Amino acid sequence: MLSIILPTLYIAFAAYFLWLISSAKHVTPITLEEAKVLWSIHRQKDNCRCRKWVPVTRRNGSVIGFKCECGYKYTQKKPVVSRAPKTVLATNGLKKPFQS
Ligand SMILES: [Zn+2]
Repeated sequence: MLSIILPTLYIAFAAYFLWLISSAKHVTPITLEEAKVLWSIHRQKDNCRCRKWVPVTRRNGSVIGFKCECGYKYTQKKPVVSRAPKTVLATNGLKKPFQS
């Protein structure tokens, strides 16, 4: 009996681990400026002619995306396990990728 249950548990754990490192994502807060830039990219990419957008916020007030007047909704998602480069703030207040 144990010889059946144990390999099944290992396979389930391995499948969960692969899902976690490959496709599990969580919502990440962004700034209002980044949401505005992402909205302008959506307008250019999708030929959207709408003029209004609304930031999508969490309960604590942090911006996580935007919703366009046309119905397009974007939320910033980031993989749970990622090797993103560290970011440092440049002197002009813009985020700049860390150069090493
Ligand atoms: Zn739109």
